[in-house]
Amino acid sequence: MVHRHKHALQMEEKRLNNVAAGLVSERFPTVSAIVIHMTYYRKAVIPLLMVRTVNMIPTTYAYFKMDCMVKGCSKGGFDLTPVVANMVKNGKKTCKGSIKCHGEIDTLPASHASIDYEAVIEYQGI
Ligand SMILES: [Zn+2]
Repeated sequence: MVHRHKHALQMEEKRLNNVAAGLVSERFPTVSAIVIHMTYYRKAVIPLLMVRTVNMIPTTYAYFKMDCMVKGCSKGGFDLTPVVANMVKNGKKTCKGSIKCHGEIDTLPASHASIDYEAVIEYQGI
């Protein structure tokens, strides 16, 4: 039951985050689509954790903070908000980079996880 309650709280937190972020169409009216390819790594013998693609359209919530996938990481994650905001500001279509997780985790050193990302943005009428 405790677990279920925690899950409900996390869902509610996610919903509030989404509402606060607003829709892609509200934040970035010139954007018609955003695709973010991400490769997740962790500090381990086999570092590749997973590969993930996020597709966003104008009616998607403009929430670009990705969770850290390492178990026990608290307040970590990868915030792509500044990346997307900068790309839109400059009318840039593609951007590659990497982000380290700065979350805290007792048993692991800092920068225990990172992602490589490639963001592709399509603009309306182009
Ligand atoms: Zn982390």
